[in-house]
Amino acid sequence: MNTYHNSEKKINYMMGIDFFSVSIYNKYLELINYMKFILDKKYIIRGWKNSLYVLINLESGESRHISPLEFQAISFCDGNTDIDDIFILEPHKVIIRNFLKDDIIHISSDEKINKNQKYFSYDCSYIKQIHWSITRNCNCNCRHCYLSSPDKKYRDMPLDKCFEIIRQIAECGIQKISLTGGEALIRPDFWQIVDFILENKIKLSRIYTNGMAINESLIYNLKLRNIKPEFSISFDGIGFHDWLRGIKGAEISAVNAFKILNKNGFSTFSEMCLYKDNAHTIFDTVNFLTNLGVSGLKINVVSNTGSWMNNKKNHEISTKKAYDAFLRYIPEFFGLGSPMNLQMAGVFACFKGSRNFFVPAVKCTDDYKASVCEHAKEVLYLSSEGEVLPCVSIDLAKTNIKKTFITKSNTLKNILNKSYYLSIINLKIKELLKKNKTCANCKYCSLCGGGCRANAVLSGGNYFGIDLQMCEFFKGGYFEKIKEIAKIGSATVA
Ligand code: SF4
Ligand code: SF4
Ligand code: SF4
Repeated sequence: MNTYHNSEKKINYMMGIDFFSVSIYNKYLELINYMKFILDKKYIIRGWKNSLYVLINLESGESRHISPLEFQAISFCDGNTDIDDIFILEPHKVIIRNFLKDDIIHISSDEKINKNQKYFSYDCSYIKQIHWSITRNCNCNCRHCYLSSPDKKYRDMPLDKCFEIIRQIAECGIQKISLTGGEALIRPDFWQIVDFILENKIKLSRIYTNGMAINESLIYNLKLRNIKPEFSISFDGIGFHDWLRGIKGAEISAVNAFKILNKNGFSTFSEMCLYKDNAHTIFDTVNFLTNLGVSGLKINVVSNTGSWMNNKKNHEISTKKAYDAFLRYIPEFFGLGSPMNLQMAGVFACFKGSRNFFVPAVKCTDDYKASVCEHAKEVLYLSSEGEVLPCVSIDLAKTNIKKTFITKSNTLKNILNKSYYLSIINLKIKELLKKNKTCANCKYCSLCGGGCRANAVLSGGNYFGIDLQMCEFFKGGYFEKIKEIAKIGSATVA
């Protein structure tokens, strides 16, 4: 506390009033306290080599990059510093007021900031989240599976190696892990992995599952640990889920899983793989899932890879036909008041209840300084073999990208300091265009930026190649068509 300033405040405030009056004295104390603020307990501040100041909400797992000025301002919110101090400038005070409005800080009543909340910097690059496939084993038999291969030699990574990886993740300051498979929930040591994640103070943010292993015992185990990860459950269209999943009763299992989770207050969303036979079910599927309490749906065309190569005959849908199905559905979606969060193949995204939609495929290219994929830059995909990749979909096909594995000697920290992996996630669009003349010379490049890297790999096995889905979208006039169609539902592109 700055005594001089508080005395001055006292004098100004007390003008003409008996200082020793108890009520006024209390008011005076309150006034002093109003000058001190403290970072809310759910927030911590961390830094990395390439992201100097990041404010992290431990409850939601959300991160916010803050400027050096914001960092200075938040440093004054330690419960003890009087922000009326002459050294605290007006711009800091403006920021402090905004943080107060956002509930990031609150008025301090002689509290002290926790040691864990204080700024700490990690000696590597920033990664927000690990998306980890902990097994390739699965209890489904999907006709489009890209992972659960009949490789008899496959063995899950032993538990001690999983622990080592979790330690390395913690050492890099990564705050969130989402688990996937195969089917993550059938790993016999699943709870030991979860417990070690929690012991290392990492948030288990989401579990990707086919839903077949979701039951009351799972809910009991989650409640026992006081955790509430979100669940993403595959659902491939009413009446068509079993066929694609290769298991009779898979659809009922998925529906029951949604019911159990939603009844117990877990947030759920879904992913639908689009193929020829289920393309007409989008309307009914969205309504059905909405009624089940599912918060959002992501629809993607089945990828031309893995088992699908043998099963797709007479069932695959062309990109063009998929876009046509989306175009037919968009007015209906807005007609129902945007019943859930919806994303369709990177060409349409809208939040529940909104009339503004956006086209994720249109990148903010900013003179092509943006990265080729902002998602891959922050979320690292870790395969069941310990390979690090820009995203799960890039594991699908043979690529021209070099393999990088986490080992005891090549730790995650090393990888996040210098590696081929790091160079490809940080690749800027303008660097991509030097390697890809077709995109560089394309008239849609300022919108498309070369498209998605996973699709580029699927389009021709080249990480730096063109994305045929985006070529169809832009060159086939679908970008314009989606904007026009949305107008029918009085929606606007945000
Ligand atoms: S649920 Fe996933 S991992 Fe399992 S068989 Fe289906 S696609 Fe493969
Ligand atoms: S539309 Fe095709 S060629 Fe043009 S920038 Fe996009 S991916 Fe490249
Ligand atoms: S590379 Fe493509 S599929 Fe992978 S995260 Fe980026 S946009 Fe998504």
